[in-house]
Amino acid sequence: MTTGDQTPKGFSTRAIHHGYDPYQGAGSLNPPLYLSSTYTFPTAADGAARFAGEQAGYIYSRVGNPTTALLEARLANLEGGEAALVTASGQGATTSLLWTLLSPGDEIIADKTLYGCTFGFLKHGLAKFGVRVTHVDLTDVANLAAAISPSTRVVFFETPANPNMRLIDIAAVAAIARRYGSRTVVDNTYCTPYLQRPIESGADFVLHSATKYLGGHGDLLAGAIVGPKEDLDQVRFYGIKDMTGAVLSSQDAFLVMRGLKTLALRMDRHCASAQIVAELLAAHPKVAVVHYPGLDTFPYYALARRQMAQPGGMLAFELKGGIEAGRRFMDALELFVRAVSLGDAESLAQHPASMTHSFYAPEERAYHLISEGLIRLSVGLEDVADMLIDLRQALETV
Ligand code: PLP
Repeated sequence: MTTGDQTPKGFSTRAIHHGYDPYQGAGSLNPPLYLSSTYTFPTAADGAARFAGEQAGYIYSRVGNPTTALLEARLANLEGGEAALVTASGQGATTSLLWTLLSPGDEIIADKTLYGCTFGFLKHGLAKFGVRVTHVDLTDVANLAAAISPSTRVVFFETPANPNMRLIDIAAVAAIARRYGSRTVVDNTYCTPYLQRPIESGADFVLHSATKYLGGHGDLLAGAIVGPKEDLDQVRFYGIKDMTGAVLSSQDAFLVMRGLKTLALRMDRHCASAQIVAELLAAHPKVAVVHYPGLDTFPYYALARRQMAQPGGMLAFELKGGIEAGRRFMDALELFVRAVSLGDAESLAQHPASMTHSFYAPEERAYHLISEGLIRLSVGLEDVADMLIDLRQALETV
């Protein structure tokens, strides 16, 4: 696709082609991988003009690299945002954005359930530097309306939330936040823009752990922020350049772009298999509850139908025997791999209370609605028949 072709394109076409003209330069089908930490200035005056922001062009790869810039253009396009900024990890995206948006005396309202290290950053990072951190159950927007005030600068959540799959109404939260001049930040890692585009529902920023579905192959760490260009310039020139240094390498940006080429195909397969796995678990006598947006018994089923294009590849469930039964089940798995992370080709199983969410104290986990016996599955791309055989045999051991 040449960059001059302006006809509207579908999601996969843009994920494969956006922003790159293969007929330009050396004519390579794939975009070039720029391995350079620094860039040349034709004259001293050009160097000064670039530093002053008066001349386009690269300076140093901590603030920009042509390979990462192409990935940024692609992600902004796919999320429907004005600009994007890629980072060394999802954690780098969260910290770089929030360090930039918040100052001492500000408040952040975050949902009760967050990825463990996001919770850790709010508690050990932001709170330590004078930001008021308030956790509210955002599944009921009345709770936000009651808690928000003019000092609330950011409202932050994941939907579905990691690991318990609670869903939050993006448009309803963003409408309340906007009335108070507060910015809405949605961690869209579980869905990717293929399933959900929070900016189109009124959110200001989208965050990603691109380590997960965007990369898709478990071979890199990466993150991304999508949002208004003016804000992302602040994150680029202060948040990352001065504060976190969480810069994505151009090699990993290249690999994320390779992952994006098959994102839609992979997500379709993840979703189809997760639905079948969720139905097997929901019908099994040893399973107490399954949390999956594609089950009509799921408390947020109606919202899932409205907000997500498909129910996703992640699910969580509890066994009737609680934590001990969960342990036995996990150890019996033969195809599902015992590992944290998600969104890989391999199906993964983990126990949040002792793994990804062990950063919460036990009483914090209870307050934040993460039960001790919960098991989280990332349904991979293997044959679903083989997944069902593995899950059935592991359930037999419980
Ligand atoms: N957000 C969510 C929802 C996650 O699951 C994770 C990691 O598991 C992160 C953010 C952090 O991403 P990373 O591991 O790429 O730093």
